[in-house]
Amino acid sequence: MNAPSSESSGFIEIRRRGLMLVLSSPSGAGKTTISRRLLELEPQLALSVSATTRAKRPGEVAGSDYHFVDLTEFNLMINRGEFLEYAKVFDNYYGTPKAQVAREINAGRDILFDIDWQGTQQLAHNAREDLVSVFVLPPSTRELERRLHSRAQDSADVVARRMAKAADEMSHWAEYDYIIVNHDIDASVESVRAILRAERLRRQRQIGLTDFVKGLREGQ
Ligand code: 5GP
Repeated sequence: MNAPSSESSGFIEIRRRGLMLVLSSPSGAGKTTISRRLLELEPQLALSVSATTRAKRPGEVAGSDYHFVDLTEFNLMINRGEFLEYAKVFDNYYGTPKAQVAREINAGRDILFDIDWQGTQQLAHNAREDLVSVFVLPPSTRELERRLHSRAQDSADVVARRMAKAADEMSHWAEYDYIIVNHDIDASVESVRAILRAERLRRQRQIGLTDFVKGLREGQ
């Protein structure tokens, strides 16, 4: 749907810079489900595909879940300055390639990041104006434990370590712009969509408005 141009009709049509939406949580809090639903419901939102050195899990698709690379390739990407941020999470490296993010944001589309608190801190440092960060908490530690145990994909050892890590991850909640306690997936998804709707209207993301007003003043 194309709005008529401002010159011909007087409609105010301004372009928007895309935003960077970060969702972080301890594993098992429901972040992956929320992300998947958001991507289905929000056509203007694309997932940032990270590079990782961890092994591919059953069901994961290279190039759409992650770019699976070995440590040598990951280090080359670091040295070539290709990452917006990167971090070691558990025993593996994860990083956000710059190229996709720049492309989406400059085209006025939003980009969703499933990254940890270390990555979020780096984005807050490198790209604060574009960043909207949301921390998803599980409804209780008991529920978190139950969800981690019901995941068949990881070994008991990994589950135990992730539970310990969850407490560490959760201690960073106060560094985020928004906090959602995930009692109910539908309600959590709607909360993130409300955040998106409002954040898209922020003054700093509107581009072209200065020229539009200047044009009005000059009687164009
Ligand atoms: P998983 O191996 O379960 O897919 O992800 C493990 C953790 O790494 C999750 O907390 C996830 O958010 C985080 N992660 C995934 N991709 C990135 C990334 O590009 N950068 C950072 N900093 N963390 C990431």
